[in-house]
Amino acid sequence: MMDLTEQIQQAAELIKQANHIVAMTGAGISTPSGIPDFRSPDSGLWDKADPLAVASIYAFRQNPQKFYNWIHPLSRMMLNAAPNPAHYALAQLEKEGKLKAVITQNIDDLHNKAGSQILYELHGHLRQMTCIRCYRVQESTEIIKKFIADGLAPHCQCGGILKPNVILFGEQLPMQEYISAQRAIANADLVLVAGSSLEVSPASDLPALALQNGARLIIINDQPTYLDSQANLIIRGDVADVLPRIAELVTA
Ligand SMILES: [Zn+2]
Repeated sequence: MMDLTEQIQQAAELIKQANHIVAMTGAGISTPSGIPDFRSPDSGLWDKADPLAVASIYAFRQNPQKFYNWIHPLSRMMLNAAPNPAHYALAQLEKEGKLKAVITQNIDDLHNKAGSQILYELHGHLRQMTCIRCYRVQESTEIIKKFIADGLAPHCQCGGILKPNVILFGEQLPMQEYISAQRAIANADLVLVAGSSLEVSPASDLPALALQNGARLIIINDQPTYLDSQANLIIRGDVADVLPRIAELVTA
């Protein structure tokens, strides 16, 4: 069994040998920024609510205020959160020309804030909101600030309710975004999974697509994933510690 330093060295070697790396990230890359994994039972976000009863598109349409009550603490955390060294390490690997895309299941905007350029946000993001009556799309920063202060479900000028551009349970993934992500990962010679347990389909199916084409696989996650047996390297560590150390070796 290699120790962590050796694993980091081996990850850097695999990255140096690759030319078209695609990273796939999940909630685990944002927990060091103080954002809980909202799908996790330990997040505290489900103590008072059943996810399907509040965070589904059906529940949203039926009772938007209930949805907004639920997302209130989470949206405050997300608005105030800053990228951590793991986000910056991926942005740096992209600048070096090694990393071609980041595919994320996160909605928190932290890859964007860290400077990642080619980014596929499969579950949407909180930067914009859409009116469910007139479909006008609006920038959300000021709207979310007001919502955090007053707790009220935000409305469009037309009177319709605004829905954040995030994918709720029962909604389809953004098709164009998903197809672009598929294309990027089909060309990958190395997939770097960071902070995702690869549990939420169909996003979790994407790395398997790269493996069929002969790509290598590095998994940095604190939990096992269904692809562990096919990984060239598995690191059970904190992504905010491990990824910057890898990026440093690659760029040295
Ligand atoms: Zn409207």
